[in-house]
Amino acid sequence: MLPKYSFIVPIYNEEETIYEMYRRISQVMNQMDGPVELCLINDGSRDRSLYIMRELHQKDPRVVYLSLARNFGHQIAVTAGLNFVRGQVVVILDADLQDPPELIPEMVNLWQQGYQIIYAQRTKRRQEGWFKRFTAYAFYRLLKNLADVDIPTDTGDFCLLDRQVVDVLNSMPERNRYIRGLRSWVGFNQTAIRFERDPRFAGDVKYTFHKSFALAINGLVSFSKVPLRLSTYVGLLAAIVALFMCLLVLYWRIFLPHSPLTGITIILIAFFFLGAVQLISIGILGEYIGRIYEEVKQRPLYTLSEVTGFEQQKSGVRSRESEVN
Ligand code: UDP
Ligand code: MG
Repeated sequence: MLPKYSFIVPIYNEEETIYEMYRRISQVMNQMDGPVELCLINDGSRDRSLYIMRELHQKDPRVVYLSLARNFGHQIAVTAGLNFVRGQVVVILDADLQDPPELIPEMVNLWQQGYQIIYAQRTKRRQEGWFKRFTAYAFYRLLKNLADVDIPTDTGDFCLLDRQVVDVLNSMPERNRYIRGLRSWVGFNQTAIRFERDPRFAGDVKYTFHKSFALAINGLVSFSKVPLRLSTYVGLLAAIVALFMCLLVLYWRIFLPHSPLTGITIILIAFFFLGAVQLISIGILGEYIGRIYEEVKQRPLYTLSEVTGFEQQKSGVRSRESEVN
């Protein structure tokens, strides 16, 4: 029998959290009104995570798993899960129990009322450092102002998706998967539930500063063209400033011929200012061109080394292309 509910959990070096995550999620699974699959995605873990996943699958056939051939990153791991799960209702949550699985019944309730996307919005982050809280706060507000679509603030990937939405997401060809952005972009009947984000159950944060920064840039560049326009604006501003300085120099030459501020100072300032503006603009341009390059390469999004428990799909490792087309 095909599952009605699919829970997707990406896993990267989570040996300390998996058992507890399974314990809490399986309590929720037992309450559901139809068959459930728990789809774990091993994102190239270097610890015992994959062995634990195999063990859980042996004990409980509702646990199915994919193993990516290396660490592809959280967003890609979730994408792989979305490609494979079979449920009518799909829930994405983190392995570290920061997204409490006990909220799922409430989300399903809203689904039954006709909502197709229910995303969880955090009202509080318990025990996360001020730096993370501040940067996240600032970033979500910046994104909201710059993005072409309305991406709700303070929402992560914890959400419930209807099958119709999952099919649309799977058919989107882009390689830059900023899931919370794509989820807003697709439309449909969306609503939020609010929750307080718990601290990580165990282990270290797997999203290093570098990965979070890359994710943030990805979100901005994938959903906004404002940064490109920025260089035009700064260019205009620089032109006005330059004109003003011309007038200033003219004034000095005529009325204050002995001014200590010589032409060379002004030239140096202008030189550095314009140089900086140009370098930043090239950098911004590069972000977009780099993405065009990624898209045209048409590489598969991920490679799989193991696919277990998806009975209907035993034919082996499928490429993402055959999944999409
Ligand atoms: N994760 C992943 N691949 C990565 C980094 C993280 O699959 O390269 C998973 C991780 O195992 C966890 C989730 O993504 O289930 C969120 O990671 P984490 O809790 O470290 O980040 P947070 O969002 O809490 O800062
Ligand atoms: Mg976490």
